[in-house]
Amino acid sequence: MSIKFGPFNGTNFQILFLGVIQETSGMFVPAIDLSFAVKPPGKNMKFEDLELIPPILRALKDQNYKSPTSIQEKSIPLILKGEDILGNAQTGTGKTAAFAVPLIQHLVGAGHNPDGRRTISALVVTPTRELAIQIGESFDAYAKYTHVKNTVIFGGVSQGSQTNALRRGVDVLIATPGRLLDLMDQGYVSLRDVEYFVLDEADRMLDMGFINDIKKIITHLPKERQSLFFSATMPKNILDLSHQILRNPKKVAVNPVASTAEKIQQYLYTTNKSDKKELLFHILKKLEPEQVLVFSRSKHGSDRIVRNLRKKRIECAAIHGDKSQNQRQKALKQFKEGDIRVLVATDIAARGIDIDKLGYVINYDVPNESETYVHRIGRCGRAGEEGVAISICEPEENAYIRDIEKLINKKIQVVKDNPFPQTDTPMSTSEKKELEKEKNRKKQEFFANRNKKRGSQNPGFRRKRR
Ligand code: AMP
Repeated sequence: MSIKFGPFNGTNFQILFLGVIQETSGMFVPAIDLSFAVKPPGKNMKFEDLELIPPILRALKDQNYKSPTSIQEKSIPLILKGEDILGNAQTGTGKTAAFAVPLIQHLVGAGHNPDGRRTISALVVTPTRELAIQIGESFDAYAKYTHVKNTVIFGGVSQGSQTNALRRGVDVLIATPGRLLDLMDQGYVSLRDVEYFVLDEADRMLDMGFINDIKKIITHLPKERQSLFFSATMPKNILDLSHQILRNPKKVAVNPVASTAEKIQQYLYTTNKSDKKELLFHILKKLEPEQVLVFSRSKHGSDRIVRNLRKKRIECAAIHGDKSQNQRQKALKQFKEGDIRVLVATDIAARGIDIDKLGYVINYDVPNESETYVHRIGRCGRAGEEGVAISICEPEENAYIRDIEKLINKKIQVVKDNPFPQTDTPMSTSEKKELEKEKNRKKQEFFANRNKKRGSQNPGFRRKRR
């Protein structure tokens, strides 16, 4: 059997789970509907049916959005009514427009004086710089025919242009937590007038250690406000946090993690560790994808992939935590503009990056957490588009594939037409231990050599560090 990468023909159904009454730690999350529907995204509903004002409808038309996605269809009317929202949705479902559009309408409708001094009426807090920038771009796009102004603040760059924008006045502030608190401390930001608060990607916030920052930010918000809380997953600690922020929220859930995989064609190449590099070239040559996002488990791994691809004259770049903000933005821009074909990313760096109509994702490493797999492949086939996800699996990763198949409740199709088939077997426990020992030995040797070298170049080095 070989895979066909020709025109897509899958029926593109998105499962929509509507809120179910549930009691969580003593808090009732009211249902918005007790039915459970499987429907094509936004088939019957139009943006016009959501009672949106003409300037917003016009901006959505400019974006070429034909109909609302499930999260938009459900959230926009509730947010326009002033309800708090507990949204279970991840990036790629159209959730940014789901909150940005009604917030812009609130700000236009509330008669905020377009010529008067602007104060921050809406605050959106999001975990990463990339997400913050993308949310800012979305606000720009949807508010382009209104007077609503936004600005974005995030760390890792100098604050000058951000504080200048704040001084000029904005209606919507989009911020990462650290920079927000920093500029609040310095007196550039006051949250006194915030009427609308959005906490985006709450689970990622907690993963990244922002819980205390979030709690601190909340204490500065006025009590009277509308709050919208979005998270891809809803474990207990996230629900606990939501209780501190929301009042009688309506629960809106779309695309539980396992079902996002349904609209994506998934294929698996099993191979040996040593053949992954050649197999990647083979896949790229065979598919000739216009653009592809390649995932790597580690920062070093992504740099290695980029070096190998460049040797074959394939335009590519890596984004990961060791790259500066400028390098990351530059790589993302080049990729978005089509100047490079392959973007290699680690999971953290890729979280939330939004590239229109990305057709292909390749997992160079199979992640050991099944949910990570679903997040990764969710980068393609966004908002109703279709996509292809290909995983390259070495023997040590066979077990991860089994876990993933359990989570997504289906078998990933194995590609038979594979010039580098898997012939090695997974290591035994004692072999694994041996390998770990060897790795540790090499690591110690590396650090010992490095210290020796630094010591000989700079005799005061050791003493100074102490
Ligand atoms: P998000 O989940 O907000 O990151 O959005 C994912 C992608 O879907 C972005 O590229 C949006 O521009 C796009 N998008 C959002 N809403 C719609 C819609 N109603 N129709 C088509 N594309 C959309």
